[in-house]
Amino acid sequence: MNCIFCKIVKGEIPSYKIYENSRILAFLDIAPVNKGHALIIPKDHYENIYDIPENLLKEMISAVKKISMAIKKSVDADGISIAQSNESSAGQVVPHLHFHIMPRFRNDGLKLWPQGSYDEGEMQEYMDKIKREVQ
Ligand code: AMP
Ligand code: ZN
Repeated sequence: MNCIFCKIVKGEIPSYKIYENSRILAFLDIAPVNKGHALIIPKDHYENIYDIPENLLKEMISAVKKISMAIKKSVDADGISIAQSNESSAGQVVPHLHFHIMPRFRNDGLKLWPQGSYDEGEMQEYMDKIKREVQ
């Protein structure tokens, strides 16, 4: 498969690994938001959060916590942002599931999400339609 993160897993292209076990790998993002920005991926190829098995996702979230704390401590960050995009319209560029773990600093000038608003009654409407789909 012509997936850049699968190639990193296989060692076919280099990476700066900060953590791995038999199922999970974490390495530095080549274009960091701030230095120390890391990506954490499953070693097997799953495209997005819809595809990954629940148990593996749980294990990944535990690793996200472990690595977040290691990054915060090692680069003396003031905070940590975590991001994970699904599908190109959500900004996913590499179609192999990954979490971004980004060290944040007071006044680093990043604003990740522009915020909007609801019209009268719309919050109720959105709450209802999302709630119906939650199993
Ligand atoms: P996304 O936009 O969420 O799909 O993020 C993909 C991320 O992968 C970007 O932040 C890239 O900088 C990063 N990236 C792409 N290629 C590499 C690579 N060879 N090594 C490390 N990070 C990479
Ligand atoms: Zn892959």
